[in-house]
Amino acid sequence: MTSSPPQGSSESAPASEAEAAGPVTINIEWLSDCAGCHVAIVDLHEKILTVLDAVQLGRCPVLTDIKDYPRAKVGLVSGAIRTEHDRHAAQAMRQSCDVIVAWGTCAVYGGIAGAGVLHTPQELFDAVYRHNKTTAGDRVPDREVSPLEATVSPLDSVIDVDLYLPGCPPHPTFILEALLTLVEGRPPKATKESVCARCLRQMTKSEVTEVRPYSQGVADPDRCFLSQGYLCLGSVTLDRCLAPCPRNGVPCTGCAGATMQILTEPNRDLRTELAERMSRLTQIPREEIVRRVEFGAKTHYAYTMATSMVGEKPTFLIRQWLADSDAEAENA
Ligand code: SF4
Ligand code: SF4
Ligand code: SF4
Repeated sequence: MTSSPPQGSSESAPASEAEAAGPVTINIEWLSDCAGCHVAIVDLHEKILTVLDAVQLGRCPVLTDIKDYPRAKVGLVSGAIRTEHDRHAAQAMRQSCDVIVAWGTCAVYGGIAGAGVLHTPQELFDAVYRHNKTTAGDRVPDREVSPLEATVSPLDSVIDVDLYLPGCPPHPTFILEALLTLVEGRPPKATKESVCARCLRQMTKSEVTEVRPYSQGVADPDRCFLSQGYLCLGSVTLDRCLAPCPRNGVPCTGCAGATMQILTEPNRDLRTELAERMSRLTQIPREEIVRRVEFGAKTHYAYTMATSMVGEKPTFLIRQWLADSDAEAENA
């Protein structure tokens, strides 16, 4: 086994200790998700060799045909709790594994499946099966599929979670660091910086007076999107990705979840924090920016609305914002 730390890290446990303990047994499970977190492991490319000899895979739906849950030291769980099957699978993973890692934004915060919290299962069935022009017939599948739960929940609302690795999917650098952490039995190294810390764009004051849709104009590649009137969630999003989007001309949509300050302080909110910063950089009134974030709330809170850390904030009034947005559209 090679136990080299990832690039840029400065500490690691002695390789001999980890080697002496034998391979780390791992179970992997996916709940309601898109499988992107599993594919992200492949994105490690040759770096996967760094840990491959040190682990032994048990259950892993994409690689092994093991149907039960053998005892394992580590359990990686991706996806949100959306169905009864998800709940049972999560509980089986907890019982079989010593350490559970919530793997990816769906497991940590509910992820994009979390938008289901805004609708009842009945409304979802109506939209997808009963009143959908692309679906033949109007029968809702009820055989060989697990019933939906009443709502969508992150993993730690059902079982205890030991480690969290957000990202949609997590970036290979952080996946490797997580795997090495587990293999070497050392505490994880993780910063609390926002995406802005890795972005190369400069925040400068501008005379911009309006929030602009992403499709309008061509953004200056060297200036912060906020300075140019485009909404970018980089300053309110935890860096678990090394800022690939703003580095490649696309504003951050917050897929790794909010910064710890926003998540843990009840009255701090993504939309007001963003509006404070953007209104200082531009001539756009703070209230107008808040309103634009609220009207696009399904997008701006897409990854985190299912977690109680966001969904139960006194400032999170998404149903009211969406109703206001609909009313404004009708009156336009
Ligand atoms: S976090 Fe993103 S990539 Fe991972 S399963 Fe969920 S939607 Fe897919
Ligand atoms: S707000 Fe977006 S564009 Fe501006 S510095 Fe942060 S990540 Fe970069
Ligand atoms: S820059 Fe933002 S949207 Fe892009 S991967 Fe990172 S957190 Fe996700």
